[in-house]
Amino acid sequence: MYTYRINEIFYSIQGEGAFAGTPAVFVRFSGCNLRCPWCDTDHERGEEMTRDELEDAVGDLMKGHEGAIVVLTGGEPALQLREDEPLFRCFNTLVCIETNGTRPVPGWVEWITVSPKNALPLRDIVPTPNELKFVFEPEHIPYYLSMQDADCEKRIQPLARRDGTTNLREALEFVLAHPRFKLSVQLHKLIGVR
Ligand code: SF4
Repeated sequence: MYTYRINEIFYSIQGEGAFAGTPAVFVRFSGCNLRCPWCDTDHERGEEMTRDELEDAVGDLMKGHEGAIVVLTGGEPALQLREDEPLFRCFNTLVCIETNGTRPVPGWVEWITVSPKNALPLRDIVPTPNELKFVFEPEHIPYYLSMQDADCEKRIQPLARRDGTTNLREALEFVLAHPRFKLSVQLHKLIGVR
């Protein structure tokens, strides 16, 4: 039986992107195919779960929280998702994914946020994201600008360094100079929740 390797499942608010401020059940899939130097997500540990176990665990958190969305995150969730096994349809709510864009996303996922890393080309992989979210690195500005006419929402998120500093000021200046982009801050960190 196919199993998913799950790092954690928790209820909080979405802190980033188009659904910032929205209550959500997060399903963090274990493992990633990239090694971003600033990655601050502890996603390596994982528990094997069947689809039923996964949906039961999410269902427990959904009880009393009708209207919450489901966010598939990681790690890289698209490494484990299957086109022929839709997840979380039973909750009749929006199922979103946060992906690095290096793997195809099944068609049953309803909202795709691609956060490309290392200026990876998106063509042919996730051709129709709903949202692009770039962690701001000034050396990649030409790459961001090459995407500015993409038919989706485009967000610039300051880089959070391990020493606690960010490049918020530079990210803000970029957005003000290029209004097709929006500034995305990590709301959950600002208010001190997961
Ligand atoms: S793609 Fe995301 S989860 Fe994977 S290493 Fe980079 S920041 Fe971490």
